[in-house]
Amino acid sequence: MDLLWIVDAQKDFIDPDGKLTVDAPIRVRIIMKNVLSWAKKNKFAIGYSQDWHEMSDEELSESPNFKQTFPEHCIAGTQGAELIPEISTTAILNDFFCIKKTVFNVWDENHGGGKELKDFVEKNNPENIYVMGVATDVCVKFAVLGFLENYKDKNVYVIEDAVWGLSIDSSNNAIMEMKDKGAKLVKYEDLE
Ligand SMILES: [Zn+2]
Repeated sequence: MDLLWIVDAQKDFIDPDGKLTVDAPIRVRIIMKNVLSWAKKNKFAIGYSQDWHEMSDEELSESPNFKQTFPEHCIAGTQGAELIPEISTTAILNDFFCIKKTVFNVWDENHGGGKELKDFVEKNNPENIYVMGVATDVCVKFAVLGFLENYKDKNVYVIEDAVWGLSIDSSNNAIMEMKDKGAKLVKYEDLE
């Protein structure tokens, strides 16, 4: 069984008026929706992460450096922390595996995130892991690098037209870094 991992498809990150938005073009949102349908049709294991902050979290700052610290975003229970409607299906909300994060790297210790994610991957034992979401240059990158590091025998794909980042330059750099470390790049139209 293959696996789809959806990174932080939340309103604060994606909507034009989100608090820490990458302002993903509408085509990216539609492709994300199509990828989710494709994965469901093919009976993939599906999981997703959701940033889920308290105001006191170390990542949040009034003078952020956009590396370790960021402006307020995805406060637990707020509208901005909700998934975008393209991704927010009943199955996603009720049935699929979810990690709520208080730090940007899903593999770091947060509510046991790293261990829970490993358990999820190992239970499903996919040959191929597909990743999409935002932001390419932050949370997507860390998720992908962790999959590559933890599962050298698996194919880790970045669906490059279903990700979007904070800036074009840092997104391109992130794509190069993921590729250098072994990620495979694929486009939605090339998925079977
Ligand atoms: Zn965050």
